[in-house]
Amino acid sequence: MKKKIGNFGKFDDIGYFAVGNEELKNQPKAGKFTNCPNCKKKHKVQYGKDTKTGEIDTIVGFVNCSSNGKAYLVAINQILI
Ligand SMILES: [Zn+2]
Repeated sequence: MKKKIGNFGKFDDIGYFAVGNEELKNQPKAGKFTNCPNCKKKHKVQYGKDTKTGEIDTIVGFVNCSSNGKAYLVAINQILI
């Protein structure tokens, strides 16, 4: 059974996701592709760009699911969650 990581919650109308410093220490690094939380197929791990520099920012990694077109959070600082 996969260990649950992170803490999903709601603060007023704003959803949040919190990860403790020790929670990711034993998790694998994110590769170029990972299994999608939705359809379980492999999708490319993507990152956003820093709005000031335009360079890739690897703090938040996500996949775009081809079966429903939605994005799913999969990595923090290039570590799988
Ligand atoms: Zn998918």
